Amino acid sequence: TSSFLCSLVLIFYFIFEFFLMILLPVVSGIHLEGPFISEEKRGAHPSKFLRTFKAGGVANLMETYGYLDNVAMVTLAPELANSAAAIRELSGRGIAVSLGHSMADLSQAEEAVQHGATFITHLFNAMLPFHHRDPGIVGLLTSDRVPPGRTVYYGMIADGIHTHPAALRIAHRAHPAGLVLVTDAVMAMGLPPGRHTLGQQQIDIQGLHAYVAGLRHVLSAFSVFGEIHYGCCFVDFIVLDDTLTLRETYIAGQQVWRK
Ligand SMILES: [Zn+2]
Repeated sequence: TSSFLCSLVLIFYFIFEFFLMILLPVVSGIHLEGPFISEEKRGAHPSKFLRTFKAGGVANLMETYGYLDNVAMVTLAPELANSAAAIRELSGRGIAVSLGHSMADLSQAEEAVQHGATFITHLFNAMLPFHHRDPGIVGLLTSDRVPPGRTVYYGMIADGIHTHPAALRIAHRAHPAGLVLVTDAVMAMGLPPGRHTLGQQQIDIQGLHAYVAGLRHVLSAFSVFGEIHYGCCFVDFIVLDDTLTLRETYIAGQQVWRK
């Protein structure tokens, strides 16, 4: 890992500023997943913290987040009413808007991109599945309504559990320039099998999977993939050879390691 973009989920918002103080020295920026996301596609995010956009633009956002300095990315669901103003406001501040935890159809996703969204959060997970009549957010990978010269990036959890390798290949072959690999390793990584507490939730760990206790959706797989970062945002990248052995590491455009 060259540098981290740390994702915070809703269970942390009540101690958000505390986390900013702890994390800022070691991460490149904060990724806020939510709370403006879809109830149906909330995944591990507790329902009681979800919000909808009021027509207040930035005042509405600040009321929720309190603090946007050092926030590098916000994930939101573009089908929520008044999302366009929020997308424009966040993009205008240099914060990447990512689409995810969403029921959006393709035209809603395309509109969000036209307003400034540039990213898709964990493609395929927590969104409508690809359908040939309306491919949903996934359709952005081949959309002809993305403004010329713009690249829509998409994060994928390439652990063979969140996404089938064939689906990863479909995405990569359709839109190789946009692929960003993401770990999705949660705080539970490294804990033994059994029941544990993550934030305010109980989770069950079985083998390489973590589940929200009592539910069957995968919270996280403990990635064995290794390398992962939001390189598009901070110009951090690594060079791998054909056997996926690390050859070079760059942070903020500088080579910091070489084999
Ligand atoms: Zn998520």
